[in-house]
Amino acid sequence: MTQPTILAAPRARASATSLVATLDIGGTKIAGALVDADGRLPVRSLRRTPDGSDGAAVTAVVQEVLDELRARPEWHRVIAAGVSSTGPLDTPTGTVTPVNLPGWRDFPLARMVAKTTGLSSVVLVNDAVAAAAAEHWRGAARGHDNALCMVVSTGVGGGLVLAGRVREGPTGNAGHIGHISVDLDGDACRCGTPGCVERFASGPNIVRQALSAGWRPAERTRPTAVAVAAAARAGDPAALDAFDRAARALAAGIAATATLLEIRLAVIGGGVSAAGAVLFDPLRTHLRAFTTLHFTTGVEVVPAAFRADAGLIGAAVFAFAAVA
Ligand SMILES: [Zn+2]
Repeated sequence: MTQPTILAAPRARASATSLVATLDIGGTKIAGALVDADGRLPVRSLRRTPDGSDGAAVTAVVQEVLDELRARPEWHRVIAAGVSSTGPLDTPTGTVTPVNLPGWRDFPLARMVAKTTGLSSVVLVNDAVAAAAAEHWRGAARGHDNALCMVVSTGVGGGLVLAGRVREGPTGNAGHIGHISVDLDGDACRCGTPGCVERFASGPNIVRQALSAGWRPAERTRPTAVAVAAAARAGDPAALDAFDRAARALAAGIAATATLLEIRLAVIGGGVSAAGAVLFDPLRTHLRAFTTLHFTTGVEVVPAAFRADAGLIGAAVFAFAAVA
């Protein structure tokens, strides 16, 4: 595993009692934790992400989470920080330009964390790459040498395990499967490309699709992917169709990855994966239709082992590696 962003030579080395501070910054929540070398999280902090177009507000919430972690008595055992962020990002410079946080453009996130915490070793990693590291270390991809780990949530991200190692690419963005086009004539995604996987499979796009096909949430409830999943389980045709389209787009993306890289396993995490069979059943069916070459048939699809903590634990894997 490479170390994406290390601002200075680490001053501290890991011991049995060492902790790392980790952040997971997404479109819905900003989480922080202190993590030990066994992947336990003795200290946590959680905030809702403010309006993503207000960069200063997002920065302020990250600051709050870090302040809460720093106030804990365990802080003196912290030797490094790992920051998992929604992408894209640029690991050599430690900056982020998230599609779903438009208020942050080339935002110097690693430097901000280093300044706030006083830690010299701050590692920045794409949230889906972090999830891949967590799943490969202790989760559903453990023991697998070639796997794609996807996070299907507000957006759709991915990280790759190839030849037994998490591969993140020169700028930390390898595996960005949500922004592969699966529809040449499709609507433009938030990234500008027509017909991205994310345009079909992210939570907000599942909701959009279901609403446009006539599904309506129950009175006084918000239209969410969880609500669409419940409606699909109850047999609502518009909800079922929205999940089927999401599953087909994910299947096309997984099949493309299997064809390019011979992955044998796809791990699906993120909030949308909690839909369960209404997502996984059509996904496995569609995947069979897209994987017709002998080296792609039989690609397995499994739910992620880590739910909300994948980014925090994966960032810890990178942070510990930086001071190993
Ligand atoms: Zn896109």
